[in-house]
Amino acid sequence: MGKLIIFSAPSGTGKSTIVRYLIDKDLKLQFSISATSRLPRGDEKDGVEYYFLTPDEFKRRIKKGDFLEYEEVYTDNFYGTLKSEVDRILALGYNVVFDVDCVGGVAIKKIYGEKALSIFLMPPSIDELRNRLEKRGTDAPEVIEARLAKATHEMGFASQFDEVVMNDDFDKAKRETVSLIRKFIAEE
Ligand code: ADP
Ligand code: 5GP
Repeated sequence: MGKLIIFSAPSGTGKSTIVRYLIDKDLKLQFSISATSRLPRGDEKDGVEYYFLTPDEFKRRIKKGDFLEYEEVYTDNFYGTLKSEVDRILALGYNVVFDVDCVGGVAIKKIYGEKALSIFLMPPSIDELRNRLEKRGTDAPEVIEARLAKATHEMGFASQFDEVVMNDDFDKAKRETVSLIRKFIAEE
């Protein structure tokens, strides 16, 4: 069976950037596409970055038991990992990589235990997080404020992860994550 690599971090730290980079390396990784009830942002497409569901559809699938885990990450914005998505990737013989919030990351690690490596990506500071979110230019000012308000709380989750990687220098963070994942997937 393949393994599971979990990435969590406050929004704007650089998870998506790191994960996109890792997928193209020779690590046999496939991205677990989460479901969300938020609207697509920028040029996001259904079935690529997320499966975009209406809030009603999302709630119906919670009732059906379709999620491995789900969270209301921001008010009215549900995010969740579909069991079918993880099964699909493992059946193809790939390792699964997750980009989930801190609570979801801890939950998935608990379910899969030794089969999973959980990595917390740490931002250099809240000020730098604000810079990155503003520079990314994909969120309204009030959305950025909501994300920053949550960031300090989320940083408190770091100790519950197997590894903490500081994303101050992008090349260094890339090297560190590749090396951690390579070692983990080579273990019996
Ligand atoms: P997340 O997925 O954690 O919300 P993103 O991957 O979208 O974050 O990154 C947020 C922004 O920060 C992007 O514009 C990205 O290019 C930038 N970024 C990511 N890593 C670094 C880094 N080490 N130094 C400077 N900017 C970075
Ligand atoms: P964004 O709206 O920036 O794409 O994501 C917001 C937050 O939701 C990020 O912290 C992201 O990691 C998290 N997230 C994305 N998918 C899932 C998921 O399936 N489960 C959980 N718990 N969080 C998720």
